[in-house]
Amino acid sequence: MAILEIITEGDPRLRHKASKVRKVDDSIRKLARDMMATVEETPYAIALAAPQVGVLRRVIVVKLPAEEPDEVEEGEEPAGPVELMLANPEVIRSSGQQTGIEGCLSIPGWIGDVQRAMHVTVRARDMDDKEVRVKASGFLARALQHEIDHLDGILFIDRIEDPETLRYEPFEDADVEIEGETAGTVAPGTIGQVNQRASGA
Ligand code: ZN
Repeated sequence: MAILEIITEGDPRLRHKASKVRKVDDSIRKLARDMMATVEETPYAIALAAPQVGVLRRVIVVKLPAEEPDEVEEGEEPAGPVELMLANPEVIRSSGQQTGIEGCLSIPGWIGDVQRAMHVTVRARDMDDKEVRVKASGFLARALQHEIDHLDGILFIDRIEDPETLRYEPFEDADVEIEGETAGTVAPGTIGQVNQRASGA
């Protein structure tokens, strides 16, 4: 398994529409496994889309740890752990709204408030090339919407409604104590790279 290089904003490949996967074959499975390994090896990463590693195919991976009880929104069930490798994911149903902080591995250090649907149903192909549906709420729903956006060349900064919320808050400067936190522990409403408030996807 290979750890892939994550490209960053300014690279034109992040702005292209990725092409559909015709069949999930060994090359797609290898890509997804390498992407998953890259998520696992990148501190605080929780998800990745193929264009972020320079591959313009519609493939995403998501890996969320189990939600801590104190992170669970009122009225919601604790989520995770979740590990998804999906080809051709598309949102076929969405409802509700949530606003929360997002970050992106391709825009290191920057975070901002983004509004997303609270609940989504995603149709995709799994690594056996079978059609699957993933129902997600809250943070997982946010992660899926963020990653699917990448497949269409859309970055979270495009979705920020209030530019005042966009801020540079790199890991080293974060004022949240992260000592002793497990890598990848993320609060609902954030997408995971940096700390409890910011994250990368
Ligand atoms: Zn991202």
